[in-house]
Amino acid sequence: MVDNNSMMQRDLEVIWHPCTQMKDHETLPLIPVKSAKGIYLYDFDGNRYIDAVSSWWVNLFGHANERINKRIKSQLDTLEHVLLAGFTHEPAVELAHKLVEITPEKLKKVFYVDNGSSAIEAALKMSYHYHRNRGEERSLFLSLTNSYHGETLGALSVGDVSLYKETYEPLLIANRQVPVPKDQSEAAANEALDILHDVLEEEGEKIAALIVEPLVQGAGGMHMYHPRYLQGARKMTEAYGVHLIADEIMTGFGRTGKMFACEHAEISPDFMALSKGLTGGYLPLSVVMTTDEVYSTFYCDYNEYKAFLHSHSYTGNPLACCAALESLSIFETDNILEENEQKSLYIAEKLKQFKMLDNVASVRQQGMVAAVELKGYAPEERVGLQVYRYGLQNGVLLRPLGNVIYFMPPYVIEYAQIDVMMSVAYRAIEALMSQKGE
Ligand SMILES: *Cc1c(COP(=O)(O)O)cnc(C)c1O
Repeated sequence: MVDNNSMMQRDLEVIWHPCTQMKDHETLPLIPVKSAKGIYLYDFDGNRYIDAVSSWWVNLFGHANERINKRIKSQLDTLEHVLLAGFTHEPAVELAHKLVEITPEKLKKVFYVDNGSSAIEAALKMSYHYHRNRGEERSLFLSLTNSYHGETLGALSVGDVSLYKETYEPLLIANRQVPVPKDQSEAAANEALDILHDVLEEEGEKIAALIVEPLVQGAGGMHMYHPRYLQGARKMTEAYGVHLIADEIMTGFGRTGKMFACEHAEISPDFMALSKGLTGGYLPLSVVMTTDEVYSTFYCDYNEYKAFLHSHSYTGNPLACCAALESLSIFETDNILEENEQKSLYIAEKLKQFKMLDNVASVRQQGMVAAVELKGYAPEERVGLQVYRYGLQNGVLLRPLGNVIYFMPPYVIEYAQIDVMMSVAYRAIEALMSQKGE
């Protein structure tokens, strides 16, 4: 009989897992998931877990969602995949129109890619190439401290999570960092804007683009800042001919309370990267959206050699595009953003109790993302790992980022399930204190 242990052993013989020191699995069980439905994951031993992290921030409407399943199944018998160079297909066309309709107004063109990091690579290359096509050599990128944009070399270059980046430093492209606002206040945003202004003044003509995760820096520990920063950054970058790249890979599709985080600041970036929630968490797909202005800089006779010749095999896969179309349709028919507003208020209420705990430094929230930051623990103590273990033993998949425990559940989570998710996290944090004998 297949059980968790036998599946784990068979896995460890051959699979090298992402973001993992594999030796940890000598003591930390790997959870083989047999099936999933709604917000629950089921393992081979019959345990179930609330997916409080939406399977790495991708799932929006639950696992095995009936509507998305149906749409993909019907597409499967029609057209599973075809190349997107020289050919096109209905799901890619319809999805691109839909995305142009719902994203900030200046974004008019959709370049299909197939995962988040690749979308960032494409955006960086497009930005550099745009300037080059106009006869300007701008090979420096600007990014925020504590940012995360993916793991491929270009994306890693503009990120700032040292755990992922440090080793590869000699391989990276030129990047300069400016401080992210230190908290959610408007004053902090203004302080950070002053520094951005100085850097643009100093090196503006060498910089191709400023890349940001709007409002919430995900992998950097759910760090949040005021929309004022985005407004200021938009104005300044425009003034210096520098592109603004909005990496909405995590924040897009309702996570921050609006469809896109840029809407909180009412800005339109030059590039927007979308992935993760794009397909409702079903299939790998991403896009880089840009303006007619950028697009037109590449549009000329072939022999002028200005075309963007970037490509990936699975670009614009029809099954993935259909999952995205159905997911976007659920937003409309089920009034998801309005429903989420109520759920966010409920989460905010529940979050208050965490502030009373002595080992909690702060709590923060932006829409459907909530975080509790712990204090008084060294990285070597790996308290996040302890919370992770406690969560699994109690039926909740929490996956802390260092000392930050966060909640990013699928939108279909019910109120009673929010209670369970947050009370298990609360008890996990309490348990840390009793272990320390505080
Ligand atoms: C996850 C993420 C990425 C990278 O996406 P992948 O599909 O994992 O390569 C880039 N930027 C942000 C903000 C992300 O959260």
